[in-house]
Amino acid sequence: MSRFYLTTAIDYVNSRPHLGTAYEKICADVIARYKRLCGVETRFMMGNDEHSQNVFRSAVEQGLEPLAYCDQMEHEFTSTWRRLDVSYDDFIRTTEPRHRTGVTHLAQRIFDAGDIYAGTYDGWYCVRCDEFKQDKDLVDGKCPLHPTTPLQWLNEKNYFFRLSKYQRPLLDHFGAHPEFLQPDIRRNEILRLIESGLEDISVSRAGQSWGIPLPFDSGSVAYVWFDALINYASAVGLGGDAATFERWWPADLHVIGKDITRFHAVIWPAMLMSAKLPLPRRVFGHGFMTLNGQRMSKSLGTTVDPGEAADRLGVDPLRLYLVKEITFGGDGDFSWDRYDERYNVDLANNLGNLVSRVSAMAGRYRQGRVSPAGPVSEQLARVGEEIARTYREAMDVFAIHDGASAAFRLIDATNEFIAETAPWSLAKNPSDANRLTQVLFDAAEAIRLAAVLLSPIMPKSSAEILRRVGADGVPLLDRDGVWRGHGERVLAQEGPLWPRLEKDAASPTARATQGAVVVIDRPLIQERPLDTPTPQQPSASPVAPTAASAAVPDRISIDEFMKVELRVAKVLNAEKVPKSTKLLKLLVDVGNEQRTVVAGIAESYEPEALVGRTIAVVFNLKPAKLMGIESNGMVLAASPDNGKATLVGFEEPPPPGTRVR
Ligand SMILES: [Zn+2]
Repeated sequence: MSRFYLTTAIDYVNSRPHLGTAYEKICADVIARYKRLCGVETRFMMGNDEHSQNVFRSAVEQGLEPLAYCDQMEHEFTSTWRRLDVSYDDFIRTTEPRHRTGVTHLAQRIFDAGDIYAGTYDGWYCVRCDEFKQDKDLVDGKCPLHPTTPLQWLNEKNYFFRLSKYQRPLLDHFGAHPEFLQPDIRRNEILRLIESGLEDISVSRAGQSWGIPLPFDSGSVAYVWFDALINYASAVGLGGDAATFERWWPADLHVIGKDITRFHAVIWPAMLMSAKLPLPRRVFGHGFMTLNGQRMSKSLGTTVDPGEAADRLGVDPLRLYLVKEITFGGDGDFSWDRYDERYNVDLANNLGNLVSRVSAMAGRYRQGRVSPAGPVSEQLARVGEEIARTYREAMDVFAIHDGASAAFRLIDATNEFIAETAPWSLAKNPSDANRLTQVLFDAAEAIRLAAVLLSPIMPKSSAEILRRVGADGVPLLDRDGVWRGHGERVLAQEGPLWPRLEKDAASPTARATQGAVVVIDRPLIQERPLDTPTPQQPSASPVAPTAASAAVPDRISIDEFMKVELRVAKVLNAEKVPKSTKLLKLLVDVGNEQRTVVAGIAESYEPEALVGRTIAVVFNLKPAKLMGIESNGMVLAASPDNGKATLVGFEEPPPPGTRVR
């Protein structure tokens, strides 16, 4: 069995985790869960970095012993990660004995190799960064990240690591292993940095108590970065547990933020080269997250609490947003409005609605049980197979955003398949019975496959969907991530997975929303049902006067007509209005917004038949309330006196929002 060992950066514990920190852990978790889905034995390591001077200072400020403070913070971090369903296998703290063993061991090996020498450091140090600073790093004599914190001038005995010696070996390694550092933009930056020459670096601090003493000089402790990097190896037994180390080292993947790429792709591999230990196979430097386009910063009040974000819509909606909306490796933005919008579009209207519709139709037409009945509809099966392949290719190279999009393409294709095959029409004709069964089977199979593909991203929701389509159990990609044209699907009809978020429920969070505001659901304005005719009710062809209409005396001018704004709309959702035989509540996309419209067409159309359909609506009608629902606009349909309403349609559906005149 193959193995996969992956890590995230370990976190300074001097402040609570924010959404940017959570983003890294969730993305790494998706990779870990994908590897497990592939049947790979996986070890997913996370941890806390506790030997920072910042941590020491925060503890002192709170009147706590540093270790007691770190214990508290460990609880903060791990409870956040558990809340977000981050499935780490092990969690290391740099104050643990196993880490001290690893650091001591590696420092001694590098020292024995002749790559650590004593010297004096004369220069600046930023305590907030916990980094030595050269003049070229400063702006106006200050740390650019911490301009209000005075730099310290250090003049102390330090030990130096001969990083300069590893310029050539590092370049050779990058040349021989183009996959070592990803994405390419980071690789190019780091290559330029190495090519410009490397200086030896200080790896110790003198006269400090908070840290791990160096084995060759107990008066010095390891510099916090030298200490922290070693966690990846000490967590799997470096210097203490040879069997575990042999089993898991080298790491297959370090997932880190782009700001610490230099430490992971230059200093860390050089340390390992010096100690004659294998290098990690890949380092992936993800981008930063902004809030409404602004850097997330505590002092600017532009951070987001990941727990609050999960509480708002659920853990899986948050995970999906972060994975699907942000290209892994690039920078990404979070906004509460966009988060709400994507929830409604991807989950409430799309995936959740699909699961409800298919299980409702299977229940209504086949008592919830469907098996292949032929004739086989190969069309959706082919799409499913192609998407499963695309998904694998993307996930194998950590393009997790593409993996998420692929799964959603299958969901879109299934919605289209239902619109095209129209099960509600097949149900009317006994000779279409087998065809109907097959269509429902195919739709259920597509849902099953999509849920398997989404399981690393939305673990709990995928498990729930699999249960509802009668396919529970832990999925395996080789076995379950393929189209299955056989067997029986037993579908459970249950409540909505993701109730639609109405705009009024909005934001605990409206405070932080500058920038892209998308109106999701205008106060449901309302509309007149078509079967309660009123003088204003339009006919099917309002602009095509007939001989009969020519006889009508009160014709209107073109100006009067143009006051009525007719628009193309796409139906996103449709449901019966409770206690009404005639009314349907529609959610329609009218181009720049989504609206609720109530229409009296329930006797002519099954709600499922309308989703995805392009219709025409009166856009600028005053809202009205019908059966307690506000309708905002009116649907155009031909309404013969004694017959059923027929919706106005188009030969080729124009985009929603197109003016009709
Ligand atoms: Zn700084």
